[in-house]
Amino acid sequence: MDASGNLLIYNSLSGQKEVFTPLHDRFVGMYVCGPTLYSEPHMGNMRTFINFDMIYRYLKLTYNVKYVRNITDAGHITNSAGEAVDSIGKAAKSEQLQSLEIVYKYNVKFQELQRIYNMLPPSIEPTATGHIQEQIEIIEQIIDNGFAYVVNGSVYFDVRKYNDDTNTPGYGILSGRKIDELEGETRDLNAQDEKRFFADFALWKKANPDDMQIWRSPWGDGNPGWHIECTAMSTKYLGQTFDIHGGGMDLKFPHHEDEIAQSCGSHGGENPAKYWMHTNMLNVNGQKMSKSLGNFFLPKEIVEGTTDVFDKPYSPNVLRFFMMQAHYRSTLDFTSEALNAAEKGFHRLMEAMKLLPGLPVSEAESSIDVNAWSEGAFAVMNDDFNTPMLIAQLFDAARFINTVNDGKGVITATDKAVLLEKMTLFITEILGLTLEQSGDSDVADKAMSVVLELRKDARENKDWATSDKIRDRLAEAGISVKDGKDGATWSVS
Ligand code: ZN
Repeated sequence: MDASGNLLIYNSLSGQKEVFTPLHDRFVGMYVCGPTLYSEPHMGNMRTFINFDMIYRYLKLTYNVKYVRNITDAGHITNSAGEAVDSIGKAAKSEQLQSLEIVYKYNVKFQELQRIYNMLPPSIEPTATGHIQEQIEIIEQIIDNGFAYVVNGSVYFDVRKYNDDTNTPGYGILSGRKIDELEGETRDLNAQDEKRFFADFALWKKANPDDMQIWRSPWGDGNPGWHIECTAMSTKYLGQTFDIHGGGMDLKFPHHEDEIAQSCGSHGGENPAKYWMHTNMLNVNGQKMSKSLGNFFLPKEIVEGTTDVFDKPYSPNVLRFFMMQAHYRSTLDFTSEALNAAEKGFHRLMEAMKLLPGLPVSEAESSIDVNAWSEGAFAVMNDDFNTPMLIAQLFDAARFINTVNDGKGVITATDKAVLLEKMTLFITEILGLTLEQSGDSDVADKAMSVVLELRKDARENKDWATSDKIRDRLAEAGISVKDGKDGATWSVS
């Protein structure tokens, strides 16, 4: 099942597609920055994790992959204004829970989302709080190497000294930022007077009196900076250098830049990862998703149909298919029109998959070159995981299946078996979609349209008791009904 030809990966470090050559033959180490669990992961986070799930699935066909995705359950996260904020502690106070209760609560939700969106579990999901000792050890190494300094119980990374040292690759190697130009975008107002240089960042923060989580360290009680946890956990599970480091585009700077500085500052000048991969953000109706714009929805709400942003629910399969229709480095715009088109497209593909096993076979040469088709599908995936092009290939195959079904094309028994195997591989194992069971969904669709019609009649007759009874009984059976502009729709919750 090996992919043929070279795999090309767009490396954010070089800004180019490069031939993927793992450091250790058939073994691949991949680290992806995981969620910070102070609230429910939003759709943008999910898009990142779903894309890396696809990348993990594809790499697994050829390599033995160790996939590490951390869980941030402590630490001061740098917000968009460049300030270090204890988001988990803040959420704990507002919800009147302890920090780890907050983390546990949202981790349960995150794990549920992973199941809903059919994501494979990583090899390990280590937590920041489980690796405080490792973080302290790396900070000590950075101090020993002269790239960090202690002030009043906090430890800061000395960005200017690191940047000027000829044994390091310099600061800004990933993001292209020059340290002199950083003023104004990196500021931690709380700590400005402690820092030697405005771009210095915290490796360890002295405890505040109201901190909920505090650890002992050689510099006194406190808690780790955010960036250091990823350096500690990637080093522990994948070594000082490994193959792929991934995350959302928003993490490129400062988080990933600082990870590189910490790694190079602690164990010599080598970049921890050979390939840096970044997934793009998403928009909703052409704008960045935000609560103030009224276009914010959660990954579960869109499945359940409980968001007002869309008129109807979409199944996780359709949502995943929709996301795979965009390349991971492109922005993706969630609109009703685009989602409805994806839903239609996905069902068209599923209809073809249902027809495929029953297609009549012929002794004559197939009217499609199945091997060339399959090679073409691997070739687009080998071009930096081009899932939209893979889906185009799948639609080509679906069209062919329909022509055979209409008696306008032929397929041999062998080609039919190969096509079925490859399409199943691309759809389920690589894109991570689940095949609809043939027949069942059609029958359910028909049965539900009868039920919804009866409910519509009841509503038109103002027979609210019957209409509510139908809705409630369906809810008990795990089916939610949503009334929209174009009538009622249903989904399995
Ligand atoms: Zn990280």
